[in-house]
Amino acid sequence: MAYHKFDVVIVGSGGAGLMAAMQLPNASIAVISKVYPTRSHTGAAQGGVAAALGNQEEDHWQWHMYDTVKGGDYLVDQDAAEVLAQEAIDAVYELEHWGLPFNRTDDGRIDQRRFGGHTRNFGEGPVRRSCYAADRTGHMILQTMYQTAIKNQVRFFNEFFLTDLLISDGRCAGVVAYSIRDGEVHTFHAKAVVFATGGYGRAWSITSNALACTGDGMAVAYRRGIPLEDMEFYQFHPTGIYRVGVLLSEAARGEGAYLLNNEGERFMQRYTPTLAELAPRDIVSRCIVTEIREGRGIAGTGEDTTDYVYLDVRHLGEQKIREKLPDITDFARTYLRIEPITEPVPIQPTAHYAMGGIPTDLEGQVIVDENRTPLVGFYAAGECACVSVHGANRLGTNSLVDLIVFGRRAGKHIAKQLATNDLDFAPLPKDPESATRDAIERLHSNTGETEGPIREEMRTVMMKLCGVMRTAAGLKECQAKIAELQERYRNVRVTDPSTTFNTELMEVLELGNLLDCAEATVAGALAREESRGGHFREDFPDRDDANFLKHTLAYRDDEGGVKALRYKPVTITEFQPKERKY
Ligand SMILES: Cc1cc2nc3c(=O)[nH]c(=O)nc-3n(C[C@H](O)[C@H](O)[C@H](O)COP(=O)(O)OP(=O)(O)OC[C@H]3O[C@@H](n4cnc5c(N)ncnc54)[C@H](O)[C@@H]3O)c2cc1C
Repeated sequence: MAYHKFDVVIVGSGGAGLMAAMQLPNASIAVISKVYPTRSHTGAAQGGVAAALGNQEEDHWQWHMYDTVKGGDYLVDQDAAEVLAQEAIDAVYELEHWGLPFNRTDDGRIDQRRFGGHTRNFGEGPVRRSCYAADRTGHMILQTMYQTAIKNQVRFFNEFFLTDLLISDGRCAGVVAYSIRDGEVHTFHAKAVVFATGGYGRAWSITSNALACTGDGMAVAYRRGIPLEDMEFYQFHPTGIYRVGVLLSEAARGEGAYLLNNEGERFMQRYTPTLAELAPRDIVSRCIVTEIREGRGIAGTGEDTTDYVYLDVRHLGEQKIREKLPDITDFARTYLRIEPITEPVPIQPTAHYAMGGIPTDLEGQVIVDENRTPLVGFYAAGECACVSVHGANRLGTNSLVDLIVFGRRAGKHIAKQLATNDLDFAPLPKDPESATRDAIERLHSNTGETEGPIREEMRTVMMKLCGVMRTAAGLKECQAKIAELQERYRNVRVTDPSTTFNTELMEVLELGNLLDCAEATVAGALAREESRGGHFREDFPDRDDANFLKHTLAYRDDEGGVKALRYKPVTITEFQPKERKY
């Protein structure tokens, strides 16, 4: 058994994990990542990071907090939104001081641009709040933080795959991970563990998410009895490249791009006159699907899967396109062979972001029930966590800020607990690696099918029946299909016996994680008989605060499947739920 002992083990080296690592100068820290750190999905973030700096025009954190609450359709925990909006400002300056090359105003301050749902004076009109580095903000964040982590001598375990969470005496004792390089199983014994493992967009067939976004951390926690919160709230970003899903950032619309239907109409002006293309993503995605269903998609078939609409940047002019949107216009050239300077770009909604995840309190401590009971020593931050600042729908640029604000808070809380000796090593459970070894052996000795068909069927059914629009009948069919796929998965076979870079084994483990996340998502969606934010039920088109102003907690049955859905109240401080008009 390969055994390691660290004060803190952080799983995930995206923005959230690295930000947490940076807060622990006096602790021994290991950062475990299944991909090389700078390949984490944070590096793909394009548009920017929100903070009410007020560099371009008047802005206040209270406005940012309000937009976050309203954007999340009032399912946001408002104490968390307050922390987000307030601490965003400091966190962004911290990144600047580490050397992040933000775009600048003429007088040398951080430049800011518009993004969907971010407004001045409680909804009066768009405001410039997104700090950015061209359309590669996440890349710059990740590079800057990784360099700083190296400078601070953080110990990285790259190409290690998290397989299990160790809990003993009601406390977190560490994790188990598989070394992709040589197939060895390692135990990491720690006083505190932080999961920063990102999202699970790969559960859908059209997605903006990288191959590695397979919900591993969420699924590992869920299998160890920790509930998953609000999984039914999954965001579809309106502008994915047609058929491919690769993202064309909202930065395009922030800079003034239009959405056009087959009549050349800027249809968003009809739905949301104040913000038009800059309405929150859930609304824009639904409007696109509605245009398509009503026959105004470009192919004109009325089928969500074969139709598209246009994203048009031509009127912005070549210079602005080259300066502000260089990467995403290149994506259009690469994937569609379209020249965005002279041609409109076909787009469709793409699975993008998990509002839900592992429930935490404001310090990033994981909580295991509706009474907010913490699991001592276990933390989560970033997309895999649900604190909940995004409620039913996240605003653009609010994820990067969530990573840096709550990654930082988790790290700082651990540092404080370590300093006061409030965290210590819990004893390791007996034979900590047995579950991992058994699972891997079973996959090698199974005689069933290989994973490809199961994965494709899952992604197709999730896209079709648990996407932008949902119905009870569709969700029931989806649930039955996921249960069938789980059953087939139990006998799935890994054909490659190798212990060196066995990517087939990795993909099979990831598929198991995706199926668990999908199962919790569908159960929450079926039970939530209302429409709110990213969860739209055609059979219950209205928001129902009387019955559903509450967070879902999905618990797994030991035998598989969702054992129970429980509910947790929403924290409301400043802003009483109102109808969401834009
Ligand atoms: C294309 C795209 C563009 C985006 N643009 C923006 C934007 O402009 N603004 C914004 O605010 N948000 C944006 N987002 C959302 C935002 O980028 C993500 O939500 C965020 O970066 C997630 O960061 P994270 O640190 O939580 O996880 P990630 O950056 O996804 O990192 C996850 C880490 O966990 C590790 N990991 C996962 N599973 C395992 C395992 N089993 N074992 C070991 N390690 C594991 C991975 O190796 C990785 O290091 C965008 C997202 C996408 C997909």
